[in-house]
Amino acid sequence: METGILYLCATPIGNLDDMTFRAVKILNEVDVIAAEDTRHTRKLLTHFDIHTPLVRYDEFSKLQQGEKILNLLRAGKNVACVSDAGLPAISDPGVDLVRLAVESGITVCPIPGANAALSALICSALDTAKFTFAGFLPKTSKNRRDVLTELSARTDTLIFYESPHRLKKTLTEMLDAFGNRDAVLARELTKIHEEFLRGNLADLAENLNEPVGEYVIIVDGKKNFDAVQSDTENLVQPAAENFIDAYKKFIAQGVDKKSAIREVAKKFNLSRREVYNAVIDI
Ligand code: SAM
Repeated sequence: METGILYLCATPIGNLDDMTFRAVKILNEVDVIAAEDTRHTRKLLTHFDIHTPLVRYDEFSKLQQGEKILNLLRAGKNVACVSDAGLPAISDPGVDLVRLAVESGITVCPIPGANAALSALICSALDTAKFTFAGFLPKTSKNRRDVLTELSARTDTLIFYESPHRLKKTLTEMLDAFGNRDAVLARELTKIHEEFLRGNLADLAENLNEPVGEYVIIVDGKKNFDAVQSDTENLVQPAAENFIDAYKKFIAQGVDKKSAIREVAKKFNLSRREVYNAVIDI
């Protein structure tokens, strides 16, 4: 018996007009739709007059449901996997189902469409040639710090998802880990209140009042100074002396240490921690 196909089907991230013709066709034709939240997906299906049976597939049910869906596929049924919004398997359930299917020799097929990360990136005006999608940061402070520290060395554009209630704190943590880089907050993409807040991390964090809606954070990659540092030994000393000299000049003018570190970090696009570690013995 021929096995079925697992379709990974994109759905809109806000604007229903972003549903693709092919997504409607496939959702109509498959035997079963595996949805993250069946009530949420039912509304979408009702809008497009689709009557295909739904089964639940989310973080909590994925172990039992994964096996059941796999059995349907083995029995020759076609299944479409959808998340609440955008591409399934991108910061959403689906990735484990794809793994199970591939391990079982099932064909997987993408039905492309809306995605929040790439929609934000293309409007950011930051480098789109090379980027890192970091998704959601971990929940605990220590793990968040570790991930941000690791990402701080990357020279490509960084993309994050974040919930509104953590946004301000996250921007402040990024400022600490990355220094004051250019950044863009892409809010409510494709919806009525879509907007792009552009600036640097310090300004964005300071001016953010009670954020509401959905946000993608785009942050510029690491620039100049340290990127140059690894290329040639000779460039290390002058560059390092420059920011240490700048720190010394601030101190000589009577600026307190904390403010001097903040200003130097901003000027040289370094994290405050990097400056602090370098000047601690001065
Ligand atoms: N699978 C989705 C995709 O392909 O974009 C992402 C799902 S993830 C659980 C949800 C996060 O994506 C939100 O917390 C937010 O960071 C981002 N997001 C989703 N829709 C958005 C929108 N319309 N505008 C801005 N960000 C959005």
